[in-house]
Amino acid sequence: MTLLLSGGDRGLHRCKDALHRSAHYLAPTAHLVLRRACPVSKMMRPDRSIQTGAATSAAASTASSTDRTQTAIQTEECSTSYDLSHSQCPDFLQRKGAFNSRGQLILKNLSYEELEQWCLQEGERPQRARQLWRWMYYSGNWIRGPDDTAGLQDGFSKGFREGLGQRVTMDGQLQLQRTQVSADGTCKLLFDLRGDGAAGTVEAVIIPVQRPNSSRPQRTTLCISSQVGCAQNCQFCLTGRMGLRGNLSTAQIVEQVVEACRYVASHQARVASGELPVSQQIAPITNIVFMGMGEPLHNLEAVRQSVSILCHPQGLQFSPNRVTVSTVGLIPEMQALVASSSAQLAVSLHATTDEVRDWIAPVNRRYPLQQLMGALRDLFPKHGSPKQHNGRHVLFEYVMLQGINDSLEDAQRLLMLTHGIECKFNLIGFNPHPGTRFRPSTSQQVAAFGGIIRDAGAVCTVRESRGGDEMAACGQLGHVEAIESVMPLLEPPPQFLDALVAA
Ligand code: SF4
Repeated sequence: MTLLLSGGDRGLHRCKDALHRSAHYLAPTAHLVLRRACPVSKMMRPDRSIQTGAATSAAASTASSTDRTQTAIQTEECSTSYDLSHSQCPDFLQRKGAFNSRGQLILKNLSYEELEQWCLQEGERPQRARQLWRWMYYSGNWIRGPDDTAGLQDGFSKGFREGLGQRVTMDGQLQLQRTQVSADGTCKLLFDLRGDGAAGTVEAVIIPVQRPNSSRPQRTTLCISSQVGCAQNCQFCLTGRMGLRGNLSTAQIVEQVVEACRYVASHQARVASGELPVSQQIAPITNIVFMGMGEPLHNLEAVRQSVSILCHPQGLQFSPNRVTVSTVGLIPEMQALVASSSAQLAVSLHATTDEVRDWIAPVNRRYPLQQLMGALRDLFPKHGSPKQHNGRHVLFEYVMLQGINDSLEDAQRLLMLTHGIECKFNLIGFNPHPGTRFRPSTSQQVAAFGGIIRDAGAVCTVRESRGGDEMAACGQLGHVEAIESVMPLLEPPPQFLDALVAA
């Protein structure tokens, strides 16, 4: 006699008790087959079947039927059981890197809606998605796995932890390797990549901000990476010298934020306990900027998905007004982001002529200044109705390079170029790194440049350089020493040779 039981994990799990109770009534030669169905397609996966084989085993034939049943259940093991080739299998299960090497679904890759869909397909209540997200992301939780909630109020049940919980992972495929704290309190987090064939390091930077004459920390900005290295080859940026080594997944982007939240919370606890002085207190993370390693819009889908997780009310709950994606100017991707995401946009401009921008930000050869400005004028029209641009503006970032782009004529040209665009300006002090030939502009030149912008009625801030002693400042992220071949430096236009440090 063959008894066939099939279904999803949850159904089979529920059968356990019934099997134990009915074992006394089974014929000694009963052949029990437990088959796990693909919960999406409901198609049987014979290769994933769990077969007791009791009747085919000489040893088993002498054992009691109860023993056989127990043996069958003990052989049950975790594995991916989705029929990924089936037409009804949702996209998020078919994405590259959806599962880790153990066949577990990586939950931090999923949007809330995808997680809800997955829960329903697994026969779970939709509230399970909310429970998972609250434990993964809600302030102060940030658990590493369902077992972390054992014995806690609203924790995961034993049944879930031993069943479905074994087939998913909350791991974001990054391993925090070490932290480096600068004299000014800026903290660089260095992560090793995990996952199939992953190699390399990415960096995120926690930047506490305290206003002068204020005794308490006011906000903390987190700068995160979207790629390992970068393909854009901006000439003033250390990450650009690495070339592109790979894209980060949504989970790897989100994990940087979760790890940074854990770090800040633990730092605050150490201050509260007296282990660290009150002067080192830092505020919870309030702002996220995609200004670390990589060009975020060169990894658009993962960045867009991670923004939705960061800003979701059931997720990490950051205000979209405080999440900024920075691009060097990939026009189609920029248009796609603005159309579909509520994050703020920053554009790294850095030059006011095509000649200079072609050199220091070579993406300009593909998308020249007039084309870039035309696209931004459409996206953020000045004095357009709030409906047209959702009350948003674009932030122009401008790194100040002595003798290259910091003349007062450049400031005038910048105003003309950006005419008709709802925008603000942020001047960035250049942070040197080994091998660079650029020099930072003097503080007088930065002040004079900014004065011209402000006199025209525009908002112009100057970004304070932070974390330079630990190579955590803007444009200093990455490890070129570990790379055999770096991206070549481009030939400067001859009139700028005098402004450069001798090679
Ligand atoms: S400045 Fe940004 S876009 Fe340019 S090379 Fe560096 S990381 Fe890439």
